[in-house]
Amino acid sequence: MIAACCRAGRDPETVRLLAVTKNQPPDRVREAVDLGLRWFGENRIQEAKAKIPLCPSHLHWHFIGHLQSNKCRDAAHGFSVIESVDSLSLARELEKWAARSGKKIPVLLEVNVAGESSKFGYRPEALRAELEAVNALPHIEVRGLMTLAPWAPDPEKARPAFRRLRELKEECGCALGAPLPELSMGMSGDFEVAIEEGATIIRVGTALFGSRPPRAP
Ligand SMILES: *Cc1c(COP(=O)(O)O)cnc(C)c1O
Repeated sequence: MIAACCRAGRDPETVRLLAVTKNQPPDRVREAVDLGLRWFGENRIQEAKAKIPLCPSHLHWHFIGHLQSNKCRDAAHGFSVIESVDSLSLARELEKWAARSGKKIPVLLEVNVAGESSKFGYRPEALRAELEAVNALPHIEVRGLMTLAPWAPDPEKARPAFRRLRELKEECGCALGAPLPELSMGMSGDFEVAIEEGATIIRVGTALFGSRPPRAP
């Protein structure tokens, strides 16, 4: 990660490593905390709800999975950032719970850059249509964009998607009249390319923890 930052001429302080602990037990979280990691990512509310209370407190948890509206209450309570907002109706549901607890929730908007049918997230065209309405919700703060690049064995194949997300972030910042700070992109196989293309958050699981245990029932 440091090497990728140097190659890209970027200060490593500007890239946050989010340790993705899905399917991993709390012990692995503790080990990662001992190594200095503070930002963690989970993709299922049910799993996170059971795990987070067993982990050291004062960690920053990002939700990175597909969020259903009936899980917004738990998401709003357990997570410091929701990276996977993909509709105005979902944002409104989060707004409701944030308002009740009197806090403002930072979110990223998930973009399906390549328009893959297997993935969630806004189509780039649809993003612009809802961006301002999401940002206008008083307890929601749009901090940036998130994407999962199309999977390919060659990380170079992900570069166009990362570059497109960066361009979209700039366009969104212009539309909102204030630059968006965060770009969450890059996973174990392609985080170096993502850093070169401007990622501020990389979400890494297997490269940190080894292969994932199967998902608990
Ligand atoms: C699992 C997951 C990751 C991490 O994937 P690895 O290939 O294990 O690094 C990143 N982002 C999301 C949204 C994920 O679900």
